[in-house]
Amino acid sequence: MLLDGKTILITAAGQGIGAASARACAQAGARVIATDVNADLLAGLRDDRNIETRQLDVTDAGAIGALAADLPDLDGLFNCAGVVHHGSVLDLTDDDWAFALDLNVTAMVRMCRAFVPGLLRQADKTGSAAILNMSSMASSVKGFPNRTAYGATKAAVIGLTKAIAADFVTRNLRCNALCPGTVDTPSLRGRIAAAADPVQAERDFIARQPMGRLANVDDLTPTVVHLLSDGSRFVTGQAVLVDGGVTI
Ligand code: NAD
Repeated sequence: MLLDGKTILITAAGQGIGAASARACAQAGARVIATDVNADLLAGLRDDRNIETRQLDVTDAGAIGALAADLPDLDGLFNCAGVVHHGSVLDLTDDDWAFALDLNVTAMVRMCRAFVPGLLRQADKTGSAAILNMSSMASSVKGFPNRTAYGATKAAVIGLTKAIAADFVTRNLRCNALCPGTVDTPSLRGRIAAAADPVQAERDFIARQPMGRLANVDDLTPTVVHLLSDGSRFVTGQAVLVDGGVTI
């Protein structure tokens, strides 16, 4: 199997893309460490004997350091956690901006700082290790209204990814970013429900997808598995679009 013998840590694995990725990686043979700030959400993954769950708030540098010290060296790290701030630059408070930057970017920096030494040790041993950072196509690659903080922070994820890829390209540690289109997840459903007209909001989200439908989480998981596997061993520093044709 594609991920046989690999240990992979995933953040924000309690629901949505992170949870589906944890299941897909386990099914592909990995030992998965599924983490989330909300420990209750992780309960749904505990029936899979290849998945171990750990509570982790990726904005908590101390908790990240403690977890890294407690775990064996990883073969793969999927930094999936992120938040969508809805609004233009005129709606954005300093607090909103600081929160988006902290969760979408700084948390990834902290995770990489804590786990890259172990990933490099594994890469020395096995010849391969991989990081996957969750970006998006929305306003980081193609502009959309009301995605200022989101687009700017997800664009920063692409820059961070290229920088890490360049720093470790000779050490067998790869780093790529995933840029999905609009995916049907609990957080998307929350954004639709919070809109002034939820029916229209759902239509608008679908309308920006040229295939005429939202992605589901399993439209993404094969690419997640691929980018964490040795099948993508010559792919690094890339912003990989899985967007149903939005950016054609
Ligand atoms: P979701 O809301 O369905 O799940 C988010 C998870 O993140 C929850 O389990 C939540 O508990 C966890 N979380 C929140 N704060 C956390 C923290 N501080 N530490 C650890 N975990 C935390 O989300 P989703 O829609 O699957 O999105 C996951 C990622 O994919 C995000 O980075 C998002 O920006 C990105 N993304 C989503 C879409 C989409 O349309 N849904 C599109 C492109 C990119």
